Amino acid sequence: MTNPTNKPPLDPINTIIFAGFPIAALILVPAWGIYHGFTTAQWLWALAFLYLNGLSITGGYHRLWSHKAYEAHPALKWFFALWGAGALQNSILIWSSDHRRHHRYVDDNERDPYSAGRGLWFSHMGWMLRKYKTNEPDFSNARDLQRDPVVMFQHNHYVALTVLMNVGLPLLLGFYLGDVIGTLLLVGLFRLVVNHHVTFFINSLAHFWGTRPYTESNSARDNGFLAFLTYGEGYHNYHHIFQTDYRNGIRWWQWDPTKWMINACSRVGLARKLVRVPDFKIQRAILDTQFQRARRQMEASPSADSLRATLEREYQQFTESVNEWTALQSQRYEAKKAEIGGALSEKRQHLQQRWESAALRTKFKELEYSLRMQRKRLELLMEQVRFQQAHMTGA
Ligand SMILES: [Zn+2]
Ligand SMILES: [Zn+2]
Repeated sequence: MTNPTNKPPLDPINTIIFAGFPIAALILVPAWGIYHGFTTAQWLWALAFLYLNGLSITGGYHRLWSHKAYEAHPALKWFFALWGAGALQNSILIWSSDHRRHHRYVDDNERDPYSAGRGLWFSHMGWMLRKYKTNEPDFSNARDLQRDPVVMFQHNHYVALTVLMNVGLPLLLGFYLGDVIGTLLLVGLFRLVVNHHVTFFINSLAHFWGTRPYTESNSARDNGFLAFLTYGEGYHNYHHIFQTDYRNGIRWWQWDPTKWMINACSRVGLARKLVRVPDFKIQRAILDTQFQRARRQMEASPSADSLRATLEREYQQFTESVNEWTALQSQRYEAKKAEIGGALSEKRQHLQQRWESAALRTKFKELEYSLRMQRKRLELLMEQVRFQQAHMTGA
């Protein structure tokens, strides 16, 4: 048969999984619901499985293995490896290697395996249905994962593990609940399909729909609604600029159950070395983006000369703050080195060092505060530009 679209051939197994399973779920689950019905216990189990799979992908596959945002106890790694296999999204090794390529070449249609530049459908699941060149395995970016025995065990026994988690476990649960078919359909099939699509939203919708407060250099967006569906991964603009942070939603009120889970694990000794990007760097990214936007907006409004001068003064100050912060960081680094070297063991020196580190902390706080204030001033400045533009078009 000829292929008029010149597309690569379909991947038969993936087509069954990603096209066949949703169709089967759409027909069989409502049918069983009408003729037999589901119990509350079955719904609750499906929800529990959904979260166990989802959090193993986001907390394990994604933040732990792809980005090394923290270190996990082997018990937690095994837990993620098992429940992650239950999500049926390939092994940790393949998933993470693809994902690292996604970050490195984001939006590059030739190299990003699920580039948003190739459209919503492609980045959602189209990329998995055909044997695209960008899907060819290349583990040169995942040597560290190949040295992880948990990752390799899961990779080598992937089919057995995923069958155990998707069929074996729901089957056992079905016997326990007294409805094998219903449990297989709801906790097995339906939960699997829902989890697939909510996780795929991160590659598709989270690159199309939402705001870009931290960077406009790629298509990733922040979207609170998507975060709710994706176990916290909807703060994707933040994630693409600060990928090693264990948090995606950095504010305490932002919905990020993955961050809460990692945090809880660290409190009971299951996780450590959680990476947090310093607040100053976050503020700097926001301001940088705002300056770029402000410049663009002012270029479009020729009468904004005096405001432009103010903007440049603000930018000058911003650059100074950034330089000062960088200098302070290296000062802190040197102080730490001296401390580790044991050069400050005497009591008097110790006291002086405490004073110095307190002074350093104060300076850091002052700089963070000055960036926050600058953000406010920049917003006011832009309000003036908008006012002027509206006034001009109105006149
Ligand atoms: Zn992305
Ligand atoms: Zn990522």
